[in-house]
Amino acid sequence: MGRQRFLSQAFSLPTERDAHPSSVADRPSGPERGVGSPLTLVTARGEGARVFTARTGDGHLVEFSETFEAGQRVLSVATLLGCPARCAFCDAGGHYEGRLTASEILDQADWLIERARAAETASTGSNIELHLTRMGEPSFNPDVLVALRALLGRHALPDLGVVVSTIAPAQTERFLEALIGLASLYAPGRLRLRISLQTTDEVARSRLVPVRTQGLAEVAAYGERFAAASGSKVTLVFLAAEGLPIDARAISRRFSPAFFRVRLQALLPTVAGQHSGLSALTAVGDAAALEGLAGGFREAGYEVEAVPGSVAEVAAGAGCGQYVSGGREQLRPRRTAGVTR
Ligand code: SF4
Repeated sequence: MGRQRFLSQAFSLPTERDAHPSSVADRPSGPERGVGSPLTLVTARGEGARVFTARTGDGHLVEFSETFEAGQRVLSVATLLGCPARCAFCDAGGHYEGRLTASEILDQADWLIERARAAETASTGSNIELHLTRMGEPSFNPDVLVALRALLGRHALPDLGVVVSTIAPAQTERFLEALIGLASLYAPGRLRLRISLQTTDEVARSRLVPVRTQGLAEVAAYGERFAAASGSKVTLVFLAAEGLPIDARAISRRFSPAFFRVRLQALLPTVAGQHSGLSALTAVGDAAALEGLAGGFREAGYEVEAVPGSVAEVAAGAGCGQYVSGGREQLRPRRTAGVTR
Protein backbone atom coordinates (compact mmCIF):
# COMPACT_ATOMS: atom_id res chain seq x y z
CA MET A 1 0.00 0.00 0.00
CA GLY A 2 1.44 3.35 -0.90
CA ARG A 3 1.40 6.74 0.71
CA GLN A 4 -1.68 7.92 -1.16
CA ARG A 5 -3.98 5.28 0.27
CA PHE A 6 -2.74 5.79 3.80
CA LEU A 7 -3.11 9.56 3.68
CA SER A 8 -6.67 9.35 2.32
CA GLN A 9 -7.75 6.82 4.95
CA ALA A 10 -10.54 8.10 7.22
CA PHE A 11 -9.93 7.84 10.97
CA SER A 12 -12.36 8.47 13.75
CA LEU A 13 -10.88 11.28 15.82
CA PRO A 14 -11.06 11.27 19.61
CA THR A 15 -12.99 14.17 21.06
CA GLU A 16 -11.20 17.00 22.84
CA ARG A 17 -12.48 15.50 26.10
CA ASP A 18 -10.73 12.24 25.25
CA ALA A 19 -7.51 13.97 24.31
CA HIS A 20 -7.08 16.46 27.11
CA PRO A 21 -5.46 14.92 30.17
CA SER A 22 -7.17 17.12 32.74
CA SER A 23 -10.61 16.12 31.50
CA VAL A 24 -9.97 12.42 30.93
CA ALA A 25 -12.49 10.61 33.11
CA ASP A 26 -10.77 8.84 35.97
CA ARG A 27 -11.63 5.70 37.89
CA PRO A 28 -13.68 6.14 41.05
CA SER A 29 -11.17 6.36 43.88
CA GLY A 30 -11.19 4.80 47.32
CA PRO A 31 -9.53 1.70 48.70
CA GLU A 32 -12.91 0.00 49.08
CA ARG A 33 -13.14 -0.01 45.29
CA GLY A 34 -9.78 -1.72 44.92
CA VAL A 35 -8.12 1.17 43.03
CA GLY A 36 -4.40 1.12 43.82
CA SER A 37 -4.56 -2.38 45.36
CA PRO A 38 -1.81 -4.82 44.39
CA LEU A 39 -2.07 -6.29 40.90
CA THR A 40 -2.78 -9.97 40.42
CA LEU A 41 -0.88 -11.73 37.64
CA VAL A 42 -3.25 -13.39 35.16
CA THR A 43 -1.17 -14.62 32.20
CA ALA A 44 2.43 -14.86 31.01
CA ARG A 45 3.03 -15.58 27.33
CA GLY A 46 5.95 -15.91 24.95
CA GLU A 47 9.53 -17.11 25.04
CA GLY A 48 12.43 -14.74 24.57
CA ALA A 49 9.91 -11.89 24.56
CA ARG A 50 7.30 -12.15 27.31
CA VAL A 51 3.95 -10.38 27.66
CA PHE A 52 2.16 -10.43 31.02
CA THR A 53 -1.35 -9.47 31.99
CA ALA A 54 -2.54 -8.68 35.49
CA ARG A 55 -5.77 -7.52 37.09
CA THR A 56 -6.16 -4.39 39.14
CA GLY A 57 -8.06 -4.53 42.44
CA ASP A 58 -11.16 -3.19 40.65
CA GLY A 59 -11.00 -5.75 37.86
CA HIS A 60 -9.26 -3.98 34.94
CA LEU A 61 -6.69 -5.78 32.83
CA VAL A 62 -3.14 -4.36 32.60
CA GLU A 63 -0.48 -5.44 30.11
CA PHE A 64 3.31 -5.24 30.58
CA SER A 65 6.26 -6.94 28.96
CA GLU A 66 9.89 -7.98 28.85
CA THR A 67 11.77 -7.89 25.55
CA PHE A 68 15.42 -7.85 24.55
CA GLU A 69 17.16 -5.30 22.39
CA ALA A 70 20.88 -5.16 21.60
CA GLY A 71 21.67 -7.29 24.64
CA GLN A 72 19.56 -5.14 26.93
CA ARG A 73 16.57 -6.35 28.94
CA VAL A 74 13.70 -3.94 28.22
CA LEU A 75 10.89 -3.94 30.78
CA SER A 76 7.80 -2.04 29.65
CA VAL A 77 4.98 -1.04 31.98
CA ALA A 78 1.53 0.41 31.34
CA THR A 79 0.56 3.86 32.61
CA LEU A 80 -3.11 3.88 31.55
CA LEU A 81 -5.85 1.31 31.13
CA GLY A 82 -5.88 1.39 27.33
CA CYS A 83 -5.27 4.82 25.79
CA PRO A 84 -7.52 7.66 24.62
CA ALA A 85 -5.10 8.69 21.87
CA ARG A 86 -6.06 5.88 19.48
CA CYS A 87 -2.96 5.98 17.30
CA ALA A 88 -3.53 4.29 13.98
CA PHE A 89 -0.95 1.55 14.56
CA CYS A 90 -1.54 0.77 18.25
CA ASP A 91 -3.93 -1.73 19.82
CA ALA A 92 -3.86 0.05 23.18
CA GLY A 93 -6.04 2.82 21.74
CA GLY A 94 -9.82 2.65 21.68
CA HIS A 95 -10.24 0.78 24.99
CA TYR A 96 -9.63 3.56 27.44
CA GLU A 97 -10.79 2.79 30.98
CA GLY A 98 -8.85 5.30 33.11
CA ARG A 99 -5.48 6.04 34.63
CA LEU A 100 -3.37 3.66 36.64
CA THR A 101 -2.34 4.83 40.09
CA ALA A 102 1.33 5.30 40.99
CA SER A 103 1.20 2.12 43.08
CA GLU A 104 -0.23 0.14 40.16
CA ILE A 105 2.57 1.42 37.90
CA LEU A 106 5.19 0.62 40.53
CA ASP A 107 3.68 -2.85 41.06
CA GLN A 108 4.43 -3.73 37.43
CA ALA A 109 7.92 -2.23 37.63
CA ASP A 110 8.77 -3.95 40.92
CA TRP A 111 7.61 -7.32 39.68
CA LEU A 112 9.47 -7.09 36.36
CA ILE A 113 12.66 -5.73 37.92
CA GLU A 114 12.80 -8.34 40.66
CA ARG A 115 12.19 -11.07 38.12
CA ALA A 116 14.90 -9.65 35.81
CA ARG A 117 17.40 -9.32 38.65
CA ALA A 118 16.89 -12.95 39.56
CA ALA A 119 17.71 -13.89 35.97
CA GLU A 120 20.82 -11.71 35.66
CA THR A 121 24.11 -13.29 36.61
CA ALA A 122 27.08 -11.58 38.17
CA SER A 123 28.83 -11.68 34.81
CA THR A 124 25.98 -10.09 32.81
CA GLY A 125 25.36 -7.42 35.45
CA SER A 126 22.05 -5.61 35.58
CA ASN A 127 21.63 -4.37 32.05
CA ILE A 128 18.03 -3.39 32.55
CA GLU A 129 15.99 -0.55 31.09
CA LEU A 130 12.51 0.27 32.39
CA HIS A 131 10.15 1.83 29.86
CA LEU A 132 6.99 3.73 30.76
CA THR A 133 5.54 3.08 27.38
CA ARG A 134 3.71 -0.20 27.22
CA MET A 135 0.08 0.91 27.26
CA GLY A 136 -1.01 4.54 27.50
CA GLU A 137 0.40 7.99 26.84
CA PRO A 138 2.28 8.78 30.08
CA SER A 139 1.74 12.54 29.96
CA PHE A 140 -2.01 11.94 30.40
CA ASN A 141 -1.37 10.59 33.89
CA PRO A 142 0.15 12.78 36.66
CA ASP A 143 0.69 9.62 38.75
CA VAL A 144 3.52 8.75 36.33
CA LEU A 145 5.51 11.59 37.93
CA VAL A 146 4.80 10.16 41.38
CA ALA A 147 5.99 6.74 40.22
CA LEU A 148 9.15 8.20 38.65
CA ARG A 149 9.96 9.98 41.90
CA ALA A 150 9.40 6.78 43.88
CA LEU A 151 11.63 4.76 41.55
CA LEU A 152 14.65 6.82 42.59
CA GLY A 153 16.67 4.55 44.83
CA ARG A 154 13.87 1.99 45.10
CA HIS A 155 15.73 -0.96 43.61
CA ALA A 156 19.33 -0.19 44.51
CA LEU A 157 20.19 -0.43 40.83
CA PRO A 158 22.40 2.58 40.17
CA ASP A 159 22.66 1.69 36.49
CA LEU A 160 18.90 1.25 35.91
CA GLY A 161 17.83 3.35 32.94
CA VAL A 162 14.26 4.67 32.93
CA VAL A 163 12.71 5.70 29.62
CA VAL A 164 9.56 7.79 29.20
CA SER A 165 8.04 7.62 25.75
CA THR A 166 5.55 10.24 24.59
CA ILE A 167 3.75 11.38 21.46
CA ALA A 168 4.11 14.97 22.81
CA PRO A 169 0.40 15.83 23.01
CA ALA A 170 -0.58 19.50 23.14
CA GLN A 171 -1.40 20.96 26.56
CA THR A 172 0.84 18.62 28.53
CA GLU A 173 3.36 21.34 29.37
CA ARG A 174 2.96 20.93 33.13
CA PHE A 175 3.78 17.23 32.94
CA LEU A 176 6.76 17.88 30.68
CA GLU A 177 8.12 20.65 32.92
CA ALA A 178 7.87 18.33 35.92
CA LEU A 179 9.73 15.69 33.93
CA ILE A 180 12.64 18.09 33.46
CA GLY A 181 12.68 18.63 37.22
CA LEU A 182 12.79 14.87 37.80
CA ALA A 183 15.53 14.39 35.20
CA SER A 184 17.85 16.56 37.26
CA LEU A 185 17.22 14.33 40.33
CA TYR A 186 18.26 11.18 38.50
CA ALA A 187 21.94 10.41 37.91
CA PRO A 188 23.11 11.83 34.55
CA GLY A 189 21.71 9.82 31.64
CA ARG A 190 19.43 7.63 33.81
CA LEU A 191 16.10 9.27 32.97
CA ARG A 192 15.68 9.27 29.22
CA LEU A 193 13.01 10.59 26.89
CA ARG A 194 11.67 9.32 23.60
CA ILE A 195 9.40 11.50 21.51
CA SER A 196 7.47 9.59 18.88
CA LEU A 197 7.10 11.81 15.82
CA GLN A 198 6.50 8.73 13.61
CA THR A 199 6.88 10.66 10.34
CA THR A 200 8.27 13.95 9.11
CA ASP A 201 5.02 14.75 7.26
CA GLU A 202 2.64 16.75 9.50
CA VAL A 203 -0.49 15.55 7.66
CA ALA A 204 0.53 11.92 7.99
CA ARG A 205 1.48 12.51 11.65
CA SER A 206 -1.96 13.91 12.44
CA ARG A 207 -3.58 10.86 10.86
CA LEU A 208 -1.35 8.40 12.67
CA VAL A 209 -1.68 10.21 16.00
CA PRO A 210 -5.19 11.68 15.98
CA VAL A 211 -4.90 13.96 19.02
CA ARG A 212 -3.48 17.45 18.98
CA THR A 213 0.27 17.28 19.31
CA GLN A 214 3.02 19.83 19.78
CA GLY A 215 4.58 21.24 16.65
CA LEU A 216 8.13 20.40 15.66
CA ALA A 217 9.49 23.74 16.87
CA GLU A 218 7.99 23.21 20.35
CA VAL A 219 9.29 19.64 20.48
CA ALA A 220 12.77 20.81 19.48
CA ALA A 221 12.87 23.58 22.10
CA TYR A 222 11.61 21.29 24.88
CA GLY A 223 13.87 18.42 23.86
CA GLU A 224 16.98 20.59 24.08
CA ARG A 225 16.06 21.60 27.63
CA PHE A 226 15.33 18.01 28.65
CA ALA A 227 18.63 16.80 27.17
CA ALA A 228 20.55 19.47 29.05
CA ALA A 229 18.83 18.62 32.36
CA SER A 230 19.06 14.84 32.01
CA GLY A 231 22.51 14.48 30.48
CA SER A 232 21.04 12.26 27.79
CA LYS A 233 20.08 13.00 24.20
CA VAL A 234 16.36 12.82 23.44
CA THR A 235 15.43 10.05 21.02
CA LEU A 236 13.13 10.95 18.11
CA VAL A 237 11.19 7.88 17.04
CA PHE A 238 10.00 7.27 13.48
CA LEU A 239 7.76 4.46 12.31
CA ALA A 240 9.14 2.54 9.34
CA ALA A 241 5.91 1.78 7.50
CA GLU A 242 5.23 1.74 3.79
CA GLY A 243 4.35 5.18 2.42
CA LEU A 244 5.20 7.15 5.57
CA PRO A 245 7.61 9.98 4.71
CA ILE A 246 10.76 10.07 6.84
CA ASP A 247 13.04 12.85 5.65
CA ALA A 248 16.34 13.29 7.47
CA ARG A 249 16.90 16.75 5.98
CA ALA A 250 13.57 18.04 7.33
CA ILE A 251 14.54 16.84 10.81
CA SER A 252 18.08 18.21 10.69
CA ARG A 253 16.72 21.70 9.98
CA ARG A 254 15.12 21.80 13.46
CA PHE A 255 16.75 19.14 15.65
CA SER A 256 20.43 19.37 16.49
CA PRO A 257 22.34 16.06 16.64
CA ALA A 258 23.95 17.53 19.77
CA PHE A 259 20.65 17.06 21.61
CA PHE A 260 18.76 14.40 19.63
CA ARG A 261 19.31 10.91 18.33
CA VAL A 262 17.06 8.93 15.99
CA ARG A 263 15.30 5.59 16.31
CA LEU A 264 13.76 3.91 13.27
CA GLN A 265 11.18 1.46 14.52
CA ALA A 266 9.70 -1.18 12.21
CA LEU A 267 5.91 -1.43 12.25
CA LEU A 268 4.92 -4.58 14.15
CA PRO A 269 1.65 -6.30 13.26
CA THR A 270 -1.39 -4.88 15.08
CA VAL A 271 -5.12 -4.96 14.43
CA ALA A 272 -5.23 -1.16 14.49
CA GLY A 273 -2.49 -1.04 11.86
CA GLN A 274 -4.31 -3.55 9.68
CA HIS A 275 -7.58 -1.57 9.93
CA SER A 276 -5.73 1.65 9.09
CA GLY A 277 -4.20 0.10 6.00
CA LEU A 278 -0.64 0.37 7.29
CA SER A 279 1.94 -2.03 5.95
CA ALA A 280 5.38 -2.79 7.28
CA LEU A 281 8.25 -1.31 5.29
CA THR A 282 10.39 -4.32 6.07
CA ALA A 283 9.98 -7.93 7.06
CA VAL A 284 10.23 -8.33 10.82
CA GLY A 285 13.86 -8.84 11.75
CA ASP A 286 15.23 -7.39 8.50
CA ALA A 287 17.66 -4.78 9.79
CA ALA A 288 19.32 -4.29 6.40
CA ALA A 289 16.12 -2.86 4.93
CA LEU A 290 16.20 0.00 7.45
CA GLU A 291 19.77 0.93 6.59
CA GLY A 292 18.77 3.16 3.66
CA LEU A 293 16.72 5.33 6.00
CA ALA A 294 19.36 5.19 8.70
CA GLY A 295 22.10 6.35 6.30
CA GLY A 296 20.39 9.68 5.64
CA PHE A 297 20.26 10.46 9.36
CA ARG A 298 23.84 9.32 9.93
CA GLU A 299 25.02 11.63 7.15
CA ALA A 300 23.22 14.46 8.93
CA GLY A 301 25.24 13.69 12.07
CA TYR A 302 22.75 11.69 14.16
CA GLU A 303 23.33 8.56 16.20
CA VAL A 304 20.76 6.11 14.80
CA GLU A 305 19.14 2.96 16.18
CA ALA A 306 17.45 0.86 13.49
CA VAL A 307 15.01 -1.52 15.18
CA PRO A 308 13.54 -4.16 12.89
CA GLY A 309 11.64 -5.96 15.67
CA SER A 310 12.06 -9.65 16.31
CA VAL A 311 10.25 -12.86 15.54
CA ALA A 312 10.02 -13.51 19.30
CA GLU A 313 8.25 -10.17 19.82
CA VAL A 314 5.72 -10.92 17.09
CA ALA A 315 5.16 -14.43 18.39
CA ALA A 316 4.59 -13.11 21.93
CA GLY A 317 2.22 -10.36 20.75
CA ALA A 318 4.50 -7.64 22.04
CA GLY A 319 2.63 -4.84 20.23
CA CYS A 320 0.94 -2.62 22.85
CA GLY A 321 -2.51 -3.59 24.02
CA GLN A 322 -2.95 -6.77 22.00
CA TYR A 323 -4.20 -8.87 24.90
CA VAL A 324 -6.18 -6.22 26.75
CA SER A 325 -7.99 -5.17 23.56
CA GLY A 326 -8.54 -8.74 22.38
CA GLY A 327 -6.67 -7.75 19.23
CA ARG A 328 -4.33 -10.72 19.39
CA GLU A 329 -7.12 -13.06 18.28
CA GLN A 330 -8.15 -10.73 15.45
CA LEU A 331 -4.75 -10.42 13.77
CA ARG A 332 -4.82 -11.83 10.28
CA PRO A 333 -2.27 -14.61 9.87
CA ARG A 334 0.73 -13.40 7.93
CA ARG A 335 4.08 -14.99 7.34
CA THR A 336 6.91 -12.94 8.80
CA ALA A 337 10.52 -14.03 8.74
CA GLY A 338 9.58 -17.69 8.71
CA VAL A 339 6.91 -17.61 11.39
CA THR A 340 3.19 -17.74 10.77
CA ARG A 341 1.24 -15.84 13.38
S1 SF4 B 1 1.01 4.67 20.59
FE1 SF4 B 1 1.03 5.42 22.71
S2 SF4 B 1 -0.22 7.31 22.63
FE2 SF4 B 1 -0.69 6.15 20.78
S3 SF4 B 1 -2.53 4.90 21.30
FE3 SF4 B 1 -0.67 3.63 21.69
S4 SF4 B 1 -0.22 3.94 23.85
FE4 SF4 B 1 -1.59 5.63 23.22
